Amino acid sequence: MARINDNFLKLKAGYLFPEIGRRVSAFTDANPEAAAKLIRCGIGDVTEPLPEACRKAMHDAVDEQGSSETFRGYGPEQGYGFLREAIVENQYADLGITADEVFISDGSKCDSGNILDIFGPGNKIAITDPVYPVYVDTNVMIGNTGEADENGAYDGLVYLPCNAANDFVPAIPEEKVDLIYLCYPNNPTGATATREQLEAWVAYAKENKSIIFYDAAYEAFIQEDDVPHSIFEIEGAHECAIEFRSFSKNGGFTGTRCAYTVIPKALKGYTEDGSEQAIHPLWSRRHSTKFNGASYPVQRGAAAVFSEEGKAQVATLIEGYMSNAKLLREACEAIGLSVFGGINAPYVWVGCPEGVTSWGMFDRMLEEAQVVITPGSGFGSAGEGYFRISAFNSRENVEEVCRRIAENLG
Ligand SMILES: *Cc1c(COP(=O)(O)O)cnc(C)c1O
Repeated sequence: MARINDNFLKLKAGYLFPEIGRRVSAFTDANPEAAAKLIRCGIGDVTEPLPEACRKAMHDAVDEQGSSETFRGYGPEQGYGFLREAIVENQYADLGITADEVFISDGSKCDSGNILDIFGPGNKIAITDPVYPVYVDTNVMIGNTGEADENGAYDGLVYLPCNAANDFVPAIPEEKVDLIYLCYPNNPTGATATREQLEAWVAYAKENKSIIFYDAAYEAFIQEDDVPHSIFEIEGAHECAIEFRSFSKNGGFTGTRCAYTVIPKALKGYTEDGSEQAIHPLWSRRHSTKFNGASYPVQRGAAAVFSEEGKAQVATLIEGYMSNAKLLREACEAIGLSVFGGINAPYVWVGCPEGVTSWGMFDRMLEEAQVVITPGSGFGSAGEGYFRISAFNSRENVEEVCRRIAENLG
């Protein structure tokens, strides 16, 4: 009898994006002429093409694969030295991280899910609410939770509400938790954490022998000088944090796939009998057993993000998305909505008008402006009363969305 992993049956059927799809189809079926005007500001995917420098590097790497002198087969599972070193040089130079603490992969989504392989049962897991759903579902799959209640909240997880009152950064929990997911700049709220807030989390983690999973996928969008780019800017974080980063959002690698995870050698976990165990060798073992390295041309393309041309081209991409975010912020403010995020992140998080729910606002934006947004409640119950607009779009589309917000929703 082939037993399955029963935990998978606890998962809520993907609700958010299928429900968005269902409502959009119902609307377009009923209003075919309005359908042609539809603009999607919902999904967190980039829209602009890969930087020229990355494409050039990938073309060259493909050509290398075409000659027996330069052909490369299996590469190092942890990633090529040229990429790990470029990452450290460009992003961790003053933060005491070395190239062998950086593990290259084909995505942060996989890394942030797979990391649970090296942690045992019985950990108390804290996640923010609203949250990137991957953190929740991967914990359900591995058996770290009980069943979900009618709101989709899982028994056994500690939910840390994030709202306007706490600037979308959770308060330190009263209870003891072992693993903590933090994502700043945040998806979906676009919020950032201050140095003081991260210091408080690091102090908590050290005191409780907990580990922080710090997702910095949107680091490149930080515009303000005083916002931390890495958890490792905080003293002591090397003993209590893992950082996830990706080329998806800065270099537009969502369809090309390359990311990395930083695990300091100083980071320790604990065995069942309470003795210390370094985390780095566990992840190294896991990664080299279950993963055979990211594609060579892709790693060359990723390294080109750090070339002179690559940096300039990425800066142009970010500038474009962040000017979109500014326009979207202003359009929502102009009709009297409360607006968050969109300053150091490509997401604008908007409060619904008094008495309107997230899905109510979704329907209004669809019906009155033919704009698809993401209802905040889809990211967790603390997201109720908000919606997310993504700045990942063409300028032309964003300007049109702003016009429609002013004309039809004002
Ligand atoms: C987009 C995104 C990532 C990146 O995931 P990849 O698998 O590297 O494309 C990671 N975390 C969050 C919160 C994201 O929104």
